[in-house]
Amino acid sequence: MNFLNANEQPLRVLITAGASGIGLEIAKGFMAEGCQVHICDINGAAVDAFVNEHTLGSGSVADISKVDDVEAMFNDLSGTLGGLDVLVNCAGIAGPTAPVEECDIEGWNQAVDIDLNGQFYVTRKAVPMLKQAKGGSIVNIASNAALHGFPLRSAYTACKWAMIGLTKTWAMEMGVDGIRVNAICPGSVNGPRIEGVIERDAASRGVSPDEIRTIYQRQSSMRLFVDAEDIANTAKFLASRAGKTISGQAIAVDGHTEGLTNWLES
Ligand code: NAD
Repeated sequence: MNFLNANEQPLRVLITAGASGIGLEIAKGFMAEGCQVHICDINGAAVDAFVNEHTLGSGSVADISKVDDVEAMFNDLSGTLGGLDVLVNCAGIAGPTAPVEECDIEGWNQAVDIDLNGQFYVTRKAVPMLKQAKGGSIVNIASNAALHGFPLRSAYTACKWAMIGLTKTWAMEMGVDGIRVNAICPGSVNGPRIEGVIERDAASRGVSPDEIRTIYQRQSSMRLFVDAEDIANTAKFLASRAGKTISGQAIAVDGHTEGLTNWLES
């Protein structure tokens, strides 16, 4: 794989929600290849820790659902990276876990603000920089909920399906500029977030977390949860020259899922 930009310089990468979880793993993956990485995250302490630990890393405290935060982040980024070759839209929250008629409006709006509007706020600022770099790519971290129905997760599913629509639309808009846009659709990823999702799902259905974990694992043909490193490796491949003709795709990294189980009581 080759991680150089059009000027034969190491890729300059922006990763939203890069201070922990999947975003941090992606950041580490790019830095291991010599790329310069700017992250943003809502968690200031985690951003500080990231910047202190990584010589190739810089960061901004920003909530991507706030337009002013996004503006400030791009001002920071102009100083740290001086340009942009790769945007990884990773920030996203789980949103409410409930049947649609019980979803509270505040929870719905919060999910849409972060999981949909935030992607737009960041991408619209990144694209002129990608064009200036004469190429590059966008990697949207969606979910395998973007490929199937997902009972009790209306807001999350709606936003993640929207992300695939945006991936294909942006790939068509930017292809002539040599900019590629792809989405990764992870299955359940080992780590604290999926444990929280499992606990909320179990509480909402009145069953044990172990029962939910088993059901989630059975949704994959390979009966597994994936590792954040699997997502990082895919993001790196897509952004590198090895992926130079891949655009407009939604790539599942989930041990193969044919459909999410609808096991609600009838
Ligand atoms: P996470 O819950 O571990 O959070 C990662 C980071 O996001 C945290 O550091 C948090 O501070 C930051 N963050 C939260 N809201 C933010 C905001 N408004 N602006 C900026 N930063 C914010 O998440 P994760 O599990 O690493 O998931 C990352 C992405 O992957 C999300 O888009 C998620 O939907 C997707 N995904 C995750 C899984 C999974 O099982 N973990 C599966 C499929 C898809």
